[in-house]
Amino acid sequence: MLNSAVELKNFAFRYDKGNVLNDINLSIVKGEYVSIIGPNGSGKSTLLKCLNRIVKGGEGTISIMGKPLSSYSQKELAKSVAYVPQHLSSAFSYTVDEFVTMGRYPYLKAFSPMTSEDQQAVEKAVQLTGLSDLRLRPLNQLSGGERQKTYLAAALAQEPDILLLDEPTTHLDPKFQKDVQKTVCDVSRNLGITVLHVTHDLNHILTWSEKIVALKAGHVCYYGLSKDVMTADHLKNVFETDFHLLADPVEGHPIIVPEAH
Ligand code: ADP
Ligand code: MG
Repeated sequence: MLNSAVELKNFAFRYDKGNVLNDINLSIVKGEYVSIIGPNGSGKSTLLKCLNRIVKGGEGTISIMGKPLSSYSQKELAKSVAYVPQHLSSAFSYTVDEFVTMGRYPYLKAFSPMTSEDQQAVEKAVQLTGLSDLRLRPLNQLSGGERQKTYLAAALAQEPDILLLDEPTTHLDPKFQKDVQKTVCDVSRNLGITVLHVTHDLNHILTWSEKIVALKAGHVCYYGLSKDVMTADHLKNVFETDFHLLADPVEGHPIIVPEAH
């Protein structure tokens, strides 16, 4: 489709034995915010890694911004797709500024200084993520939430068409979760960036994201508007546990609660 940011046709992927992703057919519209849910081991991280060519191969086709993934050079792909991985390294002694600047690597030319465009992109990413006061702090002296924001800032400095996020809020306290969620939602809305966001935070999805892909055992189980996918029956089918959908007592919007007993 012409307006697809990401399109997979009959895509399947395996590491060594047994398919991890099977018969994936998806068309993600440019500028949309799509959450990816599914049980542990259902292939969510692998799907993102295939889109970013961190893992290579597979059957079927993947198109990124209307072009076959196989036709992209590595630099060209990095200008279009940015990725925040599930497991962040805490070992780096780079400062926040240095790390975010590395997000510009697909644009930099060998032996040439940064251009004013590079500097502006770094500045904007630092502002958007609220990291101005931490610019000179080394990564290994940051809290988990601050480090998460730094990785997000480096991804934004890439000025991508598509942002892939693998559980960026899982280990954050509620305020950091909301901060990161809001930043991602703002960049999707205001900058037209297509977001694919792997998350287990079902309640945040209803607030922030437009569509949901539900994966189960490497298959797309559901794909559609968040409010349509997010029913107690669908969630039970995906996660094999019971859920209640309650009305928020203050604002009335639905809240999803896993059955405790
Ligand atoms: P999720 O992100 O949904 O938890 P993953 O995509 O990480 O799932 O993993 C899907 C399946 O692929 C799991 O069974 C996992 O054990 C397997 N897997 C993941 N990474 C590798 C790898 N590098 N080599 C072999 N198998 C892997
Ligand atoms: Mg994962």
